[in-house]
Amino acid sequence: DRTGTKAGRFMLKLSGEAFSGGTGLGVDPDVVHAIAREIAAVVRDGAQIAVVIGGGNFFRGAELQVRGMDRARSDYMGMLGTVMNCLALQDFLEKEGIDSRVQTAITMGQVAEPYIPLRAVRHLEKGRVVIFGAGMGMPYFSTDTTAAQRALEIDAEALLMGKNGVDGVYDSDPKANPDAVKFDALEYGEVLARDLKVADATAITLCRDNALPILVFELLAAGNIARAVRGEKIGTLVSD
Ligand code: UDP
Repeated sequence: DRTGTKAGRFMLKLSGEAFSGGTGLGVDPDVVHAIAREIAAVVRDGAQIAVVIGGGNFFRGAELQVRGMDRARSDYMGMLGTVMNCLALQDFLEKEGIDSRVQTAITMGQVAEPYIPLRAVRHLEKGRVVIFGAGMGMPYFSTDTTAAQRALEIDAEALLMGKNGVDGVYDSDPKANPDAVKFDALEYGEVLARDLKVADATAITLCRDNALPILVFELLAAGNIARAVRGEKIGTLVSD
């Protein structure tokens, strides 16, 4: 219920690239701290927040494959990269006084819980942020697909996709084409038919088949996560 007092449960997909703070590689603690502050604010307001973070600031399997590596093995490297992002976010959430748990699809008991959906829901109900790491645990998938799947499994009301340096979905790349036009709303089918840069087709299809709305918005603009949670008209809304 986004109109009443209950702020609802949301899946927040964060760009791994954003975590690098413009360098494209590794983690910039200042950026992660800023994102943690924004998440902490909405959690204090009563929203239940689950998070999936990309891993493009460390490794992308498809890119390593082009350079001659085995695809599945490089995808596992990509998944392990996402876990470092999860730990960085957990650390800064803790500094903001917000409890969190990292759950990974690849078991690594010293740093994270295993992925246990019912337990994740219990954490959320207790006001803890749950951060899902290591993607789906399977090569050939993406963290976008992971975010959609986890959102469905924990019964989130929307998938909030925080992008790095773009404030929604455009008909062409706004960085390359100054005349690119932004969409306020789109249907899933249109995203797929026009191959618009929202998420990969597997993720979009999963959202379409289960009517999970996707809000694409600029992650690093101050206050945007709160606006997205409140259901304000920012970014681009993809739905039926
Ligand atoms: N990955 C995977 N399975 C998953 C999630 C991620 O194999 O379920 C790997 C894949 O190699 C991907 C990398 O982890 O390139 C980083 O994930 P992300 O979705 O962020 O890739 P990006 O969107 O940055 O290319």
